[in-house]
Amino acid sequence: GIHIRAVEKRFGHTQVLRGVSLDIAAGEFVALVGPSGCGKTTLMRIVAGIEQADAGSVAIGDRDVTRLRPGDRDVAMVFQSYALYPHLTVAENIRVPLALRRLNAWQRLPLLGGWMPGAADEGHRMDQEVRRAAEALGLRALLDRRPAQLSGGQRQRVALARAIVRRPAAFLMDEPLSNLDASLRVQTRREIVDIHRQAGAATLYVTHDQSEALTMADRVAVMQGGELLQVATPEAIYADPADLRVATFIGSPR
Ligand code: ATP
Repeated sequence: GIHIRAVEKRFGHTQVLRGVSLDIAAGEFVALVGPSGCGKTTLMRIVAGIEQADAGSVAIGDRDVTRLRPGDRDVAMVFQSYALYPHLTVAENIRVPLALRRLNAWQRLPLLGGWMPGAADEGHRMDQEVRRAAEALGLRALLDRRPAQLSGGQRQRVALARAIVRRPAAFLMDEPLSNLDASLRVQTRREIVDIHRQAGAATLYVTHDQSEALTMADRVAVMQGGELLQVATPEAIYADPADLRVATFIGSPR
């Protein structure tokens, strides 16, 4: 799971996060919603390790990762502006995180020098993992194409495949569907939830779209002004909002 404990963050004089705590169990999907500028992306970046918190801690599973670099946390991120490598094929793009992980592991074994233990085996295993991820996102027929030869929706799928290929314990998604057209969005929602379920990962999903949050998530976390106002099931958030701010934001009939 993802365990966020009393996280605080300020930029200059602006307090952006005011003691945010949130536990997301393994297998649980939590949607994070709130008005523009309330701190959602900042919280994601802190969990990912791209940004450092001023106070508080983050754990993934039972490991405190507060001081770890992004590459050393068992998290995968998918953002709205996913960057694929234009000169690489779809298969090669999906393979990148596996290759980086291997490189990381080798760098910790300086005595081995240029010797690469089991390189051929490992290459084969990586190909299998790439095919599995591509299969999950319906990309099997597109593995040899380059990003320029794909539609926007297909590119977003490649970004998702690249995120799941390492089988991370946690997924962080920041508006991953916002560049897709309406019908593709609805279809891809289902795929994201399926992938999350199959992985048994803890997922934190930022969206501006209330219907996305209410239909996809096990629980919805409503943030405003750097604080979580309510964290509850979609039914409870909708039917029994904690206060007027939540009701107004979610559009509850109250
Ligand atoms: P949106 O829904 O519009 O993406 P958000 O909820 O994700 O907004 P954040 O991106 O987390 O909000 O930003 C929270 C606040 O922190 C904003 O007021 C923003 O201007 C400020 N902020 C974010 N990053 C920085 C930074 N690197 N330096 C200074 N201020 C920042």
